[in-house]
Amino acid sequence: MLQTQSHLSPRIYGHFIDGVLFDPSQNLIDRHSPVNGSLLARFSDGTPKDVDDAVSAAVRAFHREDWADLTGSARAKLLNKFADLIADDADHLVRLEAEEASKAIKMSVHELAMVVEMTRFAASLAVTAKGEAHTQLGPGVLGLVTKEPSGVVGMIVPWNFPLVCLFQKLPYALAAGCTVVIKPSELTSSTALEIAKLATKAGIPPGVINVVTGNGAIVGEALTGHPDVSMISFTGSTAVGRRIGAKCGESVKRVALELGGKGANIVFADADLDAALDGILFGFVFNQGEVCAAGARLIIEDSIADDFVSKLAERAKLINVGHPTDEQADMSALIHESHMHKVLAYIAEGQKEGAVVICGGQRLRGQEYDDGYFISPTILTEVTADMRVFREEIFGPVLCVTRFKSLEEAISLANLTEYGLANGVWSKDIDKVLLTTRKLKSGTVFANTYLEGAVQLPQGGVKQSGFGRENGLDALHEYMETKQTYVKL
Ligand code: NAD
Repeated sequence: MLQTQSHLSPRIYGHFIDGVLFDPSQNLIDRHSPVNGSLLARFSDGTPKDVDDAVSAAVRAFHREDWADLTGSARAKLLNKFADLIADDADHLVRLEAEEASKAIKMSVHELAMVVEMTRFAASLAVTAKGEAHTQLGPGVLGLVTKEPSGVVGMIVPWNFPLVCLFQKLPYALAAGCTVVIKPSELTSSTALEIAKLATKAGIPPGVINVVTGNGAIVGEALTGHPDVSMISFTGSTAVGRRIGAKCGESVKRVALELGGKGANIVFADADLDAALDGILFGFVFNQGEVCAAGARLIIEDSIADDFVSKLAERAKLINVGHPTDEQADMSALIHESHMHKVLAYIAEGQKEGAVVICGGQRLRGQEYDDGYFISPTILTEVTADMRVFREEIFGPVLCVTRFKSLEEAISLANLTEYGLANGVWSKDIDKVLLTTRKLKSGTVFANTYLEGAVQLPQGGVKQSGFGRENGLDALHEYMETKQTYVKL
């Protein structure tokens, strides 16, 4: 049964600047529940002046003795305390995130655990960060390679994983010694503001973390164009990423872009088919398909396609679509009404081009669903590489199925999109798996699993999915400048 009343709303926020959560501004952006339309939260509609105030605070903090002069160990201590406080506040944060981003709560619980883990991992990197000394450059010559924090980092993040996307950046930038101004999505700003308060409680000095809420076209643009911001780290759509990249190019500002995707799972006939069914299903329904690395395409060997796809459809029909706070729900409503219509339009266009819907395909109706933007898991078969649904990011619970007859054809089909974020391969033949993983053009390849990760492994995209890496040691170095020092002794 869908619950209709939120226990936490509505909440009203101002910006978080220089360690202070300000009163809400006159102009507010309302966030309504995509499940039942109730008012969840009101965020201040930021202005370029707010961005300027936040950047000034971040610039001051960057030079403060109690931040700039800290040792890696001291920085790690603060980060670990920050992680403790996030873990202590987990129930609250999980509920905010689930409501605003429309996430099945059991997934939100898992995401919060990842946030804590990323913070602790970044703390460990702060302790071990090091440079190089070169002692064989000639008599009386010493060469040093050192890493220095980049400065003030602008972090612009999307709505689908508000905290996870932020924490693939934030703790690493802090570990590096940077200060930050965060621009969360206008749909899901609560948790960024809540964690900024926790950071202050953990002892992270005022001005190190600042949050300005509001629209991308105003706040995001002002942050990207600000002369005192040294770097923009952006996660979002490829269209906005191109714009941000161009703007950073004009002012020669560092930029990292984590953009869209159109992942494919290649399933060979010799795979563990039961495991593959689970992995393919999870890959396209997790977070109702609003996942950059979603396994949105199934490239399936012709000889097993009929049986595999009909079993997949049976499993997809068992997916429990419900309210974010329903602990039994596997997935929930799409983020907002126009996004739901966009997903439905893609399904209709696919059908017009010859694809066949074998399950889902429509807005869910009935008393429990009427006030929300629910679409059940949808499988489109007979999809060919010339169709838009094959190539473009739909960002909903929609799987596009295409058959192949040879390994080369499978790889070529998987690579036939402008994106290069994540792909998967399923086979018990290790040679086939390794050959395929090498030829897939994406920053991530999953073999015999899908949508897993570890903080130690750097992730990011190639092609139109962007550049830059998050997590792993690479994430620390994203926020540092390399300096060479040539010393004549
Ligand atoms: P979006 O690009 O519309 O918005 C992302 C953020 O950018 C938001 O905070 C938005 O307010 C801001 N923004 C919008 N216009 C801007 C501008 N002109 N200047 C500066 N900032 C601006 O993306 P979205 O709809 O919030 O998120 C969905 C997209 O994010 C999908 O394409 C998805 O694939 C992508 N995504 C990628 C990753 C990854 O790791 N590669 C992770 C999550 C989401």
